[in-house]
Amino acid sequence: MPIQTSKAFSEVDRLKDEMAQTLMELVRIPAIAPENGGEGETKKAERLLHILKAIGFDKVERFDAEDQRVPSKKRPNIIAYLNGEAVTERLWIVSHMDVVPPGEESVWTTKPFEPVIKNGRIYGRGAEDNTQSMVSSLFAVKALKNLKIKPRRTVALCFVADEEQGSTYGIQHLIKQGLFKSEDLVIVPDGGNENGSFIETAEKSVLWIKVRTIGKQTHASRPETGLNANRVGMEFALALDKMLHEGYHAKDEYFDPPYSTFEPTKKEKNVDAVNIIPGEDINYFDFRVLPSYDAEEVLSTVARLATDFEKKTGAKITMESVQKTIAPEPTKADAKIVVSLKEAIRKTRGVDVKVGGIGGGTCAAYFRKAGVPAVVWSTIDETAHEPNEYAKIENIVNDSKVFAYLAVA
Ligand SMILES: [Zn+2]
Repeated sequence: MPIQTSKAFSEVDRLKDEMAQTLMELVRIPAIAPENGGEGETKKAERLLHILKAIGFDKVERFDAEDQRVPSKKRPNIIAYLNGEAVTERLWIVSHMDVVPPGEESVWTTKPFEPVIKNGRIYGRGAEDNTQSMVSSLFAVKALKNLKIKPRRTVALCFVADEEQGSTYGIQHLIKQGLFKSEDLVIVPDGGNENGSFIETAEKSVLWIKVRTIGKQTHASRPETGLNANRVGMEFALALDKMLHEGYHAKDEYFDPPYSTFEPTKKEKNVDAVNIIPGEDINYFDFRVLPSYDAEEVLSTVARLATDFEKKTGAKITMESVQKTIAPEPTKADAKIVVSLKEAIRKTRGVDVKVGGIGGGTCAAYFRKAGVPAVVWSTIDETAHEPNEYAKIENIVNDSKVFAYLAVA
């Protein structure tokens, strides 16, 4: 291993406690989307700008996206550059500042936004998703700066907004600015496995659908005077579930899991009283469809079933696509970022690396769509979106080493 790399690794090790402190500092600032009742990422971004200033990057740029729904009226996106010997070939490390809400707080053993260290893990909402990677990328650069090592290629850390709600105000906004080139190396550390042996290069199509069933509200003792939207909605959901699983059951072992998934998920609150027959029923579905299927065709199948149900029941069923990301061409297995990252992982921790696809929904899909090869990789226990989410301090440190290796090797 080159001398610069081993020096950088020792420096990363030395910074371990500071990394843990920085992670906790960031977790303390919730950055929840307006869709979930939050104020967005502005406060967290301000904190981050202080951290970036203290590290001393060569250039820091902001690309705010306007959003009238949040108090600051903007969703911040920040890019911090450390110039390398080669300025044309850039290594981008993209992490997101926003977090999902804590969910049911009674199942948390600690307070979601008051991080706590226990047995080498830091517990808190957003600790793993995606603060861990914000911190490991920040400290890879900090280690190089402290040692006055100029990276071989320019390192650009990208901190984006709005990842959890479809990235319109985040990475999609940045891609529109024309910042990324097809020869760039892009890594999105927002997914992975427990020993860092999995590089994600492909994602399924992601479809989120809102189904609204309209019947007629009435008293529960007189069902014949109304039309129970709750019953029709449930019957429709089950029929749809069955139809999709039977109709789209192809397997592709490149993906984990190797099949398409179709899940009824969120349900909106309906009436306030037990003795009211609901006149409206709203259900949501999350579909992750293998790229071998035409996602548009899946949507027309859903629409056809809705029409059948309308005829059969007299209810009105409308469908709205809340999110639609059609699976882009996978990043090729011989793309430079895949090859370089594989080598970095092998050299730093000696594990065998597997390349494959997942259910999707990360920023990498938007890069691929724009013709920029991107990979998803990090070392995590996959506690994202769960109560008692945590980040292992060991993983923050070790992922930081991989990023440092990619910068200098
Ligand atoms: Zn994430």
